Amino acid sequence: MLRVGLTGGLGSGKSTVAKIFETLGIPVYYADDAAKRLMNEDAVLKQQLSENFGKETYLTGTLNKSYLAAAVFSDPAKLALLNSFVHPATIADAGIWMHKQTSPYAIKEAALIFESEAHLQLDYVIGVAAPYALRLQRGMQRDGASKAAIEERMKNQLDEAEKIKRCDFVINNDESELLIPQVLKLHETLLLRATFE
Ligand code: ATP
Repeated sequence: MLRVGLTGGLGSGKSTVAKIFETLGIPVYYADDAAKRLMNEDAVLKQQLSENFGKETYLTGTLNKSYLAAAVFSDPAKLALLNSFVHPATIADAGIWMHKQTSPYAIKEAALIFESEAHLQLDYVIGVAAPYALRLQRGMQRDGASKAAIEERMKNQLDEAEKIKRCDFVINNDESELLIPQVLKLHETLLLRATFE
């Protein structure tokens, strides 16, 4: 089975693209959701976060999201420390999940595939590309957030052009091309590659 990554900057439309793949019967692992679940369920990860960010990180065993968010907000070193625990735990969990899938290929959707080195565990990476201004507008609209708040989150991600350059396949989501035909074409390509694996 092929392990395929799906990435793109904030607001690029990777979750939208992932949902189209799901309608084709392809299982998708959503790294962001998984990371949130693991921070509440993985005993080793919980221990690491409590030790490094303080006991307040958990309130009666449940992740104190606002406390942790405030602790890493605008502090790149602390965010890097948090990621150094969360990313390996998520990569390991995704590996176990991938192993259980029986489809010709399975997808891992994650914003930080290259940044977290998750690409090393994947056969191919698909990039979803959209211009900065459009991604910013989508992010603001979807989250009801300010321009500054979305730009702050975008700063923690690898430059979009750099990210897309490293991908094996690119889906263009600048609204000049329809998404579904692009996904169908890529689905055919991946099914073919899975046959010859
Ligand atoms: P994030 O990394 O922030 O979770 P994402 O890359 O997963 O973002 P989506 O959540 O798929 O992006 O898309 C962001 C917003 O833009 C959503 O509200 C989605 O409905 C909208 N959107 C994405 N693609 C299109 C499109 N082609 N046409 C119209 N709206 C779109």
